Amino acid sequence: MIRVKGLVKNFGTLQVLRGVDTEIAKGEVISIIGPSGCGKSTFLRCLNRLEEPSGGQIELDGRDITGPGVDITAVRQRMNMVFQAFNLFSHLTVLENLTLAPMQLRGTPKAQAEERGMELLRMVGLAERAHYFPSELSGGQKQRVAIARCLAMDPEVILFDEPTSALDPTMVGEVLAVVRNLAKQGLTMLIVTHEMDFARDVSSRVFFMHEGRIHEQGPPAQVFGAPQRPETRTFIHRVRSRNYTLSSPDVDIYALHGDIEVFCEKHLVPRQTAHDLQLLTEELVLCFMEELKQRKAFELCVEYLEAKREVRVTLDLPAGVESPFSVADADPMVVDIGLQLIRNIAPGVHEEPGEDGRVKLVFPVRQS
Ligand code: ADP
Ligand code: MG
Repeated sequence: MIRVKGLVKNFGTLQVLRGVDTEIAKGEVISIIGPSGCGKSTFLRCLNRLEEPSGGQIELDGRDITGPGVDITAVRQRMNMVFQAFNLFSHLTVLENLTLAPMQLRGTPKAQAEERGMELLRMVGLAERAHYFPSELSGGQKQRVAIARCLAMDPEVILFDEPTSALDPTMVGEVLAVVRNLAKQGLTMLIVTHEMDFARDVSSRVFFMHEGRIHEQGPPAQVFGAPQRPETRTFIHRVRSRNYTLSSPDVDIYALHGDIEVFCEKHLVPRQTAHDLQLLTEELVLCFMEELKQRKAFELCVEYLEAKREVRVTLDLPAGVESPFSVADADPMVVDIGLQLIRNIAPGVHEEPGEDGRVKLVFPVRQS
């Protein structure tokens, strides 16, 4: 239904969209997530031509809508947008907000527009408020009216730009419930949202945007459960991290411990876990003492995954250094106390592919 090819948008010298490519089928519900400023709003606004794309193509049902001579009003009716700030007309009643566009843009007779308006208000639970003014409604109610108004144009695609982020937390649920209902009815929707649980259960696909591109996309279970790219992972798990380079046998372990302690206090990591972290880093330095004496450099990273409340340490092994964990326990007669200690603190120690084909050791720290 929608095909986007190499979409670019510049604001002066700032390149906000750097080549967005995607295809969206009828009935899909796409959640768009990503850090603030990565171009989510600009992408939606280009789709319905609220922003003029600087390059690339957008096709709607096989027709390029970026070219000259395109009826922009018609495009916006087919791809209608719901804004974060509601944008209701304050001098019109709720019902008048719904009937205005159908009457003016489509010539729908008043009675018919009102009948359809009431039907939509019933659908969003606000039929009783038809003759109120927006100022007499709560934020959640206003946004439900805005959704009904969007539906009044019978759009084929609805674009939601953070529909709940201007709301009090108590009102988020009522708006999400309405959006969820629309998803069930098979409407094609693109939803920019920070509500991760909602995105996870409502969407058929998730786009993670990063620096003006769709950086990763897939079914929600994959993007949220097993993000492939480091930037996605950092965003989804809200990773906080500290990096250290170990490159000498004389590494100042006390300074390292002090730094880890500050990091843990800042993120409210439990004391015991912080202590385990310090023990773990100390054992790792001992474990690789021979390599450190040869001035090989190890990248050590302490990570706190805020969303999962997990702490882990990763260690990038220099080229040519083997993981002592892959062969550990091979000989039951040889018990390496250091390795045992590390395994005790991080029972799930495993390898992951690192950069440039190197090995990355991952130590998920047990939680006390
Ligand atoms: P997001 O919705 O992902 O937070 P936006 O699409 O709103 O990001 O903005 C992306 C970048 O483009 C930001 O750096 C923002 O400051 C810039 N930007 C957005 N709109 C304009 C504009 N009209 N003029 C200049 N810069 C803009
Ligand atoms: Mg935005």
